[in-house]
Amino acid sequence: MAKTIAILPGDGIGPEIIAEAVKVLETLQKSVNLDVHLQQALVGGAAIDATGHPLPTDTLELAKKADAILLGAVGGPKWESLDIAIRPEKGLLGLRSELKLFANLRPALLFPELANASTLKPEVVEGLDILIVRELTGGIYFGQPRGFRTLDNGQRQGFNTLVYTESEIERIARVAFESAEKRQQRLCSVDKANVLEATEFWREIVTQISKDYPNVQLTHMYVDNAAMQLVRAPKQFDVIVTTNMFGDILSDLASQLTGSIGMLPSASLDTNNKGMYEPIHGSAPDIAGQNLANPLATILSVAMMLRYSLDQPKLATAVENAVSQVLRDGLRTKDIQEEGQKAVTTREMGDAVAAYL
Ligand code: NAD
Repeated sequence: MAKTIAILPGDGIGPEIIAEAVKVLETLQKSVNLDVHLQQALVGGAAIDATGHPLPTDTLELAKKADAILLGAVGGPKWESLDIAIRPEKGLLGLRSELKLFANLRPALLFPELANASTLKPEVVEGLDILIVRELTGGIYFGQPRGFRTLDNGQRQGFNTLVYTESEIERIARVAFESAEKRQQRLCSVDKANVLEATEFWREIVTQISKDYPNVQLTHMYVDNAAMQLVRAPKQFDVIVTTNMFGDILSDLASQLTGSIGMLPSASLDTNNKGMYEPIHGSAPDIAGQNLANPLATILSVAMMLRYSLDQPKLATAVENAVSQVLRDGLRTKDIQEEGQKAVTTREMGDAVAAYL
């Protein structure tokens, strides 16, 4: 039976990059009979303009019934003055929480052709291939109680709570171990167990779960050291699993190792591997509508969708290989262009990937 994919272009460059990702999916429909049904809906600012709400009921219903969701990006200056409760970003957060997408997978993979695009020395990043698994719906970003209060001595205080239940840790740990099994079988769990009880508990549960994955070599690292190691010798890592806040920070750090924000995909998964797939970048209003955006992060998000939600690992690899091939051919959008190279447009890049497929 055909799998339904909800296509949510969003704002800014969203529609442009999504058009190229759809081109890739449609090419696979034609060339290898990929059995998918693509259904488009509004989210973010585009949805606010049309319906007054960043996540209309129709969109949420479609996202719930779909097997996977492909999202462009949301937001832009046009909606920045709106009340925070109905800003475009609420559409994205609403999807993550309504669909219980607790596992955020962010690969930081450096294509060899782009080694010079990183701010680190080529020999430090060449061959880099890290997967960061970030817990996305728990931890200090959601823990209760939280807020502001006045103490007995009259001092005002802001406070948050870092909490993790055993089941929250177990489910994210299993995603990480299973990902590591499919890669180089090495998992580094990042915590601050020397200072924070919640992450001492994290370490205990991750260690306990590791018994079910004897092929995966588990190590632990404190987050401060992990930040340092990621810029010192990033290639020592295969898969990293960590809490919501530590993952937020480390994944942005890791994304920069690879040079351009326009190259990095992400997946946010629920317990059944249903997922939302999106590039890690935003709506880039500064280049929107100009056919300049790099569509490769979104196309690589399609590869992640094929691998994690559609059970098509060979097609996922084929898409990744097609991206490698166009880079090898010297095709570069403006964000990854080097001196002496001619830049191609968003559409030309999408066409080239589709042609290889
Ligand atoms: P951004 O990621 O949109 O842009 C940062 C810089 O990177 C810009 O110079 C932009 O031109 C460039 N860039 C981003 N994607 C690119 C691509 N595919 N190809 C070439 N260049 C690219 O971040 P920002 O400027 O801080 O935010 C702009 C808007 O996007 C804001 O409204 C923000 O809230 C929103 N945003 C949305 C998401 C999301 O939808 N997941 C994530 C981050 C930011």
